[in-house]
Amino acid sequence: MSNGNLSSEEAGRSRNIRPEQASEYFRNGEYELAKETFTTAMKSVIGPGFKIPLDLTYGGGVECEEYKRLDLQKRAFLTWCFDGIARCYWKQDRMEEALKWSEEARILALNARISSQVPLHDWEKYDHNSLDFIGNTGTAVHRRWIAENHIPERLLTPEIRRLLNPGKTSVLLQYRHPDPRLCIKLNVTEPSLQVMGAWHKIRVRSSGGPSRRMGFASFIWKGHLYIAGGRKDSLGPFYRDIFSLNLATRDAWMALPPYPVPFRVSGAFLGWHMVPDPDTGRAYLFTGRPTVDYFDLNTKTWGSMVTTFKRKDPQDAKGGIKPGTWPYPKDQLTDSTQQLVGGKLYVFGGTHGTTSIGCNLFMVLDLKTAHWTRLSGSVMPGKHGDYASPGPRKTPSSWVDKDRDRIFLIFGECDRMGARLSGELHGADCGYAYDDFWSWSIAAGRWQRERMDGNAPCPRSEVAYVYNPVLEKAIVWGGYNPDLPTYFYDHGANFGFSYYADTFIYDSSASVSSSSSNDRTAPWRQVLTHGFPTYRAQAQLIVDPDTGKTYLYGGFANNDYVPSRKTSISRSFGDLWQLRINIPGGCFEGVNLEEETRTAQAGPWQRCFTCGSAGPWKKCGGTCRGKAFFCDADCLKEGWKEHKEMHACRKAAS
Ligand SMILES: [Zn+2]
Ligand SMILES: [Zn+2]
Repeated sequence: MSNGNLSSEEAGRSRNIRPEQASEYFRNGEYELAKETFTTAMKSVIGPGFKIPLDLTYGGGVECEEYKRLDLQKRAFLTWCFDGIARCYWKQDRMEEALKWSEEARILALNARISSQVPLHDWEKYDHNSLDFIGNTGTAVHRRWIAENHIPERLLTPEIRRLLNPGKTSVLLQYRHPDPRLCIKLNVTEPSLQVMGAWHKIRVRSSGGPSRRMGFASFIWKGHLYIAGGRKDSLGPFYRDIFSLNLATRDAWMALPPYPVPFRVSGAFLGWHMVPDPDTGRAYLFTGRPTVDYFDLNTKTWGSMVTTFKRKDPQDAKGGIKPGTWPYPKDQLTDSTQQLVGGKLYVFGGTHGTTSIGCNLFMVLDLKTAHWTRLSGSVMPGKHGDYASPGPRKTPSSWVDKDRDRIFLIFGECDRMGARLSGELHGADCGYAYDDFWSWSIAAGRWQRERMDGNAPCPRSEVAYVYNPVLEKAIVWGGYNPDLPTYFYDHGANFGFSYYADTFIYDSSASVSSSSSNDRTAPWRQVLTHGFPTYRAQAQLIVDPDTGKTYLYGGFANNDYVPSRKTSISRSFGDLWQLRINIPGGCFEGVNLEEETRTAQAGPWQRCFTCGSAGPWKKCGGTCRGKAFFCDADCLKEGWKEHKEMHACRKAAS
């Protein structure tokens, strides 16, 4: 050994094992032996007492001093071991463990990044100099391995098979998420990583109400859904209205007194939140002004309160808040994320008067004293990154966990295109969607970066998110990634971005439960649904805290991405859905999965009742009033008898 460095060969020889032996075992299908050999090799580098994957004995989160101290060669060697162990678990059909080791390789690379001398922003590539076969690239290859092997044999359609040879990645890039060709075949095969669910569209009896919109505010209070503000399309109209709907009867939307503050004072009612407070019966609306408005839910009237900012220097000056100034330049704030805990309103990120890239300012308003204090972050993104806090962003997602002592933060975008247009630092041709995950300890007053264990969603922004207190799980759905392409070879179209319509749940307590139990689940699980609302960004998930029912409303998508739409570049949605999940309290009773595979709407497409293909099909013209769709006359003829029986349909009298 020289200079404390250790090559893979040396690492092996130092304990009389040949690491190559692990690969041999793997090739021969002797996975237990392979894992043992990988583990022995791994321990020869990091020490026998060290527990990998990192667990709570290291304080939780992802930072690890031992990992940071490793040099490049040791790190490369460990990445190879982690990858090997992941592959063994994969071969043994133990996907949760495989993903855990895959995440460990990512965390190892992350610690290398954190140990770099100048703190980097998340979107900056960590450069390993000439040794680019490790770290990011090694992790990329590892992840790609997982990705390429993610398509089970039974899901390979003929066209996908044809494309596997030219390039495996291009196959993956052709999928939409969920893909209508695959989602009806999906069933739970890994209960620790998946759970069955269903999306059901809800109809309101009378027309009228908020209709199509994006950038609006929403919440549920005493069985009523409230929708306020937002806009219909990119260029408007812009709304300042508020509606409520009784979710039990769903008769009609009721119009309530509109937001009375004029546009010239507050700017557009866009990307704001209305946060209901059970203690006061008010839904708070913070627009970036020191005056915080609220809608009184008992009297159905608007009011406001004057708040003040309590400085703490030198920290606040360091955070970019100039002496004697209000933290939000030009009294504006859009696209932040907000949570109300223990009578305090927490506000993270968003764009304001002097940034369109997004900030990482984290503020809290004590609703009793009406005082704001700064918790972390800065008004403007700095030249360098900051590993102690989530990076600057807009449209992140957040929730408060079961014990009401931690605020989780995930997703969001650094709008680098917006920054280029406004001449800010960090401008670029494309936005960056964050792949990190954080929790803020309210008691300790600090951030911790969290693992993404289990079957986690990919990086994205403008995600629908909510914490369901009855299920004790966070739910995320859909969203948008500005930098992950989607290919449509059939249409000769490539998009530099992706819209999503997939569903995930997160349970922080799953990460600490005992690993021996059979019915344990991973913290992140995907909710598999045969039907789903169309791919989109800016939809909102809303939970009724009394019943535990989960709803989805609104949002928008680029028109080309949703091929059945004809007008304008982007278009908003005004549809209301309910999510059912196959867990206790998840309202899954009554869901007929057989029926779902035959008739559930797959995003922008209808499912042919007979052949199962997804497309812009015509609905049945019989007395069922469109319970089933058929792709052509042959399928109608072939499936008619079965449909007649299943849905009590008869030919309508002409
Ligand atoms: Zn058909
Ligand atoms: Zn019919």
